Amino acid sequence: MSALIWGLDLDAAGRCRHYHGPTDIVANKCARCQQYFACYQCHDALRAHHFVPMPITAAAKVVCCGNCRQQLTYAQYQTGTCPFCRHAFNPQCVRHQAIYFIPSK
Ligand SMILES: [Zn+2]
Ligand SMILES: [Zn+2]
Ligand SMILES: [Zn+2]
Repeated sequence: MSALIWGLDLDAAGRCRHYHGPTDIVANKCARCQQYFACYQCHDALRAHHFVPMPITAAAKVVCCGNCRQQLTYAQYQTGTCPFCRHAFNPQCVRHQAIYFIPSK
């Protein structure tokens, strides 16, 4: 199932005006509005509330690949490569872990 990605100045692979490196293609889901955004800055510019991180569970789809628009679980995302289209993800995103995800115990 393909998903819609929200953001500012999005390109075809879901890169936004804030993060637009070759591997910046992952969109993150906000737990409050349950929609995918290119980054938290895009979210906060487009919504009246701040980005709410997603709780990580085995089954929850928490990110969306901007290249193929498939929704991924956290475990799939952690492999560093999209399991559907094989596009690489930006490893620097771990710096923003706390913004996007609530770790499981
Ligand atoms: Zn939201
Ligand atoms: Zn952005
Ligand atoms: Zn993909």
